[in-house]
Amino acid sequence: MYTDSHCHITCDQLYSHIDEVLENMDAISSCLIMCTNEEEFLRAEKLKEKDSRFKIAFGWFPGDAKEIDEKKLMLLESYLQQQRVDVLGEIGLDYYWDTSFNDLQKELFVKQIELANQYNVPISIHMREATKDCLDILTKYAKTKIIFHCFSGSTETMKECLRLDSLISFAGPITFKNAKHGPDCVKECPLERMLTETDSPYLTPVPYRGKENQPKYVEFVTKKISELKEIELETLCEQIETNFLSLFN
Ligand SMILES: [Zn+2]
Repeated sequence: MYTDSHCHITCDQLYSHIDEVLENMDAISSCLIMCTNEEEFLRAEKLKEKDSRFKIAFGWFPGDAKEIDEKKLMLLESYLQQQRVDVLGEIGLDYYWDTSFNDLQKELFVKQIELANQYNVPISIHMREATKDCLDILTKYAKTKIIFHCFSGSTETMKECLRLDSLISFAGPITFKNAKHGPDCVKECPLERMLTETDSPYLTPVPYRGKENQPKYVEFVTKKISELKEIELETLCEQIETNFLSLFN
């Protein structure tokens, strides 16, 4: 019924009790597993082998840009060549923690977008405190579909994102009491351009905020959207799944 378009269930924290995480996923119809290293990726492949609800995303995270050498890019390319990657990501720019290697981040971002173009896979975007640079690069280079993961910008920024061939993915923060732009963006985002996600194990939605996040909690993100958009939950779930699957046609 629910779609989790961005979760890290093969990271050490969630994978340490993966059986329980999977048992809790009965109400999930589609799920994109985000992998930020080789180990997480190989774990995700094992899960996908046994369960067709899973798709796999792999890409080098902007915050790791200093550690990404030619060899690591070749590893990513070999997976793409072998059609083992459904989505390239999360990739992008993050100027929040450290601005000392912005150029390196940009370089890595462009290289990975070009790989996505070459192998015709969608990209999942992590964009934090870097909206202008990120949108400039996407406008210039991106040729495949774009997912703006955990969108937290203003409605103006969202409109710029929507000008690209993109989907806007909403996560737990739209349920928070202090949510700033999230609810307005949900209201203004066309239904056929939105996705839901958890970004688990982070950003747990209300009423479980503060606890470990899991894909099952995407229910609360989806319910919040149905409330804000005044649309029946079932209709919303169907539309979101359609949006998600459209990435892979
Ligand atoms: Zn993530």
